[in-house]
Amino acid sequence: MKDVETISPIKRRDFMKGISLAAAAGASTVALPKAAFSAKANRQPHYGMLIDLRRCIGCHACSVSCKAEFDVPLGATRSWVEYVEKGDYPNVSRSFLPRLCNHCSKPQCVDVCPTGATWKRKEDGIVVVDPDICIGCKYCLQACPYDARFINPVTGAADKCDFCQHRVEKGLEPSCVNACIGGARIFGDLNDPSSKISRMIAKNPVTVLRQEMGTEPNVFYIAADHSDPHTAREGEYIRIDTHRREPERR
Ligand code: SF4
Ligand code: SF4
Ligand code: SF4
Repeated sequence: MKDVETISPIKRRDFMKGISLAAAAGASTVALPKAAFSAKANRQPHYGMLIDLRRCIGCHACSVSCKAEFDVPLGATRSWVEYVEKGDYPNVSRSFLPRLCNHCSKPQCVDVCPTGATWKRKEDGIVVVDPDICIGCKYCLQACPYDARFINPVTGAADKCDFCQHRVEKGLEPSCVNACIGGARIFGDLNDPSSKISRMIAKNPVTVLRQEMGTEPNVFYIAADHSDPHTAREGEYIRIDTHRREPERR
């Protein structure tokens, strides 16, 4: 991995310029990966994901591959795709919003855990759960603003996406990234300015989910429609549909 201190001044300047342009052109929820480019940049990786919705076709291959990778029990999901429908005929639109744990830099799920069963790994930024320590109290389920967690009915412990850490540790991409036929999902090291994800974030306006929660998500989106029925204007039609058992967004 190339660390931040070895970036040439020109490359670094171009990178920061790209981020400024992206912020200027982006939606109101633009966020930047704070782990990257700090003066004390960590030499260890800090993993994140970028989902480019210009390339997403809503095929659910990501959700299905995740199910298969982890043998996720029926009725539970670590990764899912929302369909966002809105507008009045003839001005209507339908778009897709793949969802997963955001591996937040300030994870509220970790703050509330009474046993230390969930934490953000210092070595790579992945937020994990140890089912042997988890007591299934559900505090983290309530604390997560993204509804990313569930109680696994087999283990009785909290469960969620872990960026396929078992694959990443072997140098492989997460299963959903591997399965994405649109090439919409990009996984990589936010601490490495030369990584594809960092270069894409530098060149494009990016957004995160519910930036106002202050969790600093590390899953970024390009061209996402963040419309939400909860914030719809009176008479405005917005419908979110998913294959989850509880389709209602929090
Ligand atoms: S998305 Fe939710 S479960 Fe994942 S790290 Fe953030 S607060 Fe925790
Ligand atoms: S359900 Fe498990 S991981 Fe979540 S807060 Fe309780 S002990 Fe911690
Ligand atoms: S696999 Fe890729 S293209 Fe298909 S729904 Fe998921 S992110 Fe979109």
